Amino acid sequence: MLLRHTPKEITERTALMINPAKTCQPIGAMYAALGIKGCLPHSHGSQGCCAYHRSTLTRHYKEPISAATSSFTEGASVFGGQANLLQAIDNIFTVYEPDVIAVHTTCLSETIGDDLPQIFDKAVKEKKVPEGKTLIGAPTPSYVGSHVTGFSNMVKAMAALAAPGGKKNGKINIIPGWVEPSDMEEIKKIAAMLGVSINMFPDTSGVLNGPLTGEYKMFPDAGANIADIKDSGNSIGTLALGEWCSADAARLLDTKCKVPCSILDMPFGLKATDRFVDALRIVAGTSVPEEIMVERGKLVDMISDMHQYFYGKKVALVGDPDQVIAMTEFLVSIDMCPIHIVTGTPGKRFEERIREITAAMNCKVNVRAKSDMFLLHQWIKNEPVDIIIGNTYCKYIARDEDLPYVRWGFPILDRQGHQHFPTVGYRGGLRLLEQILGVLLDRKDRDDPESKFELVL
Ligand code: SF4
Repeated sequence: MLLRHTPKEITERTALMINPAKTCQPIGAMYAALGIKGCLPHSHGSQGCCAYHRSTLTRHYKEPISAATSSFTEGASVFGGQANLLQAIDNIFTVYEPDVIAVHTTCLSETIGDDLPQIFDKAVKEKKVPEGKTLIGAPTPSYVGSHVTGFSNMVKAMAALAAPGGKKNGKINIIPGWVEPSDMEEIKKIAAMLGVSINMFPDTSGVLNGPLTGEYKMFPDAGANIADIKDSGNSIGTLALGEWCSADAARLLDTKCKVPCSILDMPFGLKATDRFVDALRIVAGTSVPEEIMVERGKLVDMISDMHQYFYGKKVALVGDPDQVIAMTEFLVSIDMCPIHIVTGTPGKRFEERIREITAAMNCKVNVRAKSDMFLLHQWIKNEPVDIIIGNTYCKYIARDEDLPYVRWGFPILDRQGHQHFPTVGYRGGLRLLEQILGVLLDRKDRDDPESKFELVL
């Protein structure tokens, strides 16, 4: 009973969060920056912020996360961090030789009012940025938004590097949103199966799920190439996966470089993957190959084989908006009933989308954006569910309420596998179903009386 003090009675709260279903903006910015090849993320704030962001990413991805910090002390906190950042840029390019430094701010530097573009201009004028090297920056004040906002802001900063007027490159930009490195691999694989030439950024595959080779490399040979990111303004179209994570960058490419964009849901589950594959097919003017149809068929087969175990099961779901919207659609499509749904990220459209998707379920659905795990737990106490799906923090609720539990989303601090096994696409759908089925059938085996304890399910 770790959360024994969570009461069943719900009191409306306006100025208090308890166990928020989100983390801070710079973590998202740091994750996005790691998806650029040869990039060192830089945290413009105190050492404590940077240490927290690095450790959270390290614990989730099980990889060491390199990042630099402006190391604010009392002086910088009062007079501003310009001198610290200028010194840092000089030191980093001299000592570590990255191709790119991606600077994000923190609560402290935003409150002081440090102006990144002005400091970058000064760094260039003072010749602290070597020829051919790139500086990008994103504002990430953590007292607004969430880690998703920070991710989006850094991806938008990448898109801002694109310049209009070059020769069309025939590629499609894919902005994958905050998904696992394994998901990014899967998205690239689907595009390759369709024969579509893509320009994907950010791309953390191979960066945060690379092999152990015995050889240390400060910058892995993976990630989105900065030259390709700059060339994204010459692509024939952009597919942005997720309104919260990717739409701002795609719209910037549209307005600045006239690259038309489509904002899609993240390709979790059957329908969202269908739409993604269809969008790729249409933009590229190609047809869907047999191997993709086979993958789709396997997912449909598993759904129909095991439907009896999914049907009518009540689900509590928590996570980031783009992921949760697609997951909710997937669960509804297999006749599960997501009835308690929470995200910590703000955005009114989230609740509207969830209500649209769940309208056909014909039952009451609790949904809240900018909310917390405490409310989710209270909802569960008032109307119990059969399974909970969400990040590692759900383990407390799952333990207290004795619920089957699938770890999915960010962060997952106590299990392995998410960096290596995709949950996007048709193959990812198989993985999700296997995980959901596994915990549901384990529970059935545990609870069935001996007269109903079956060898074959
Ligand atoms: S919430 Fe603000 S102060 Fe706290 S770690 Fe994040 S950026 Fe730093």
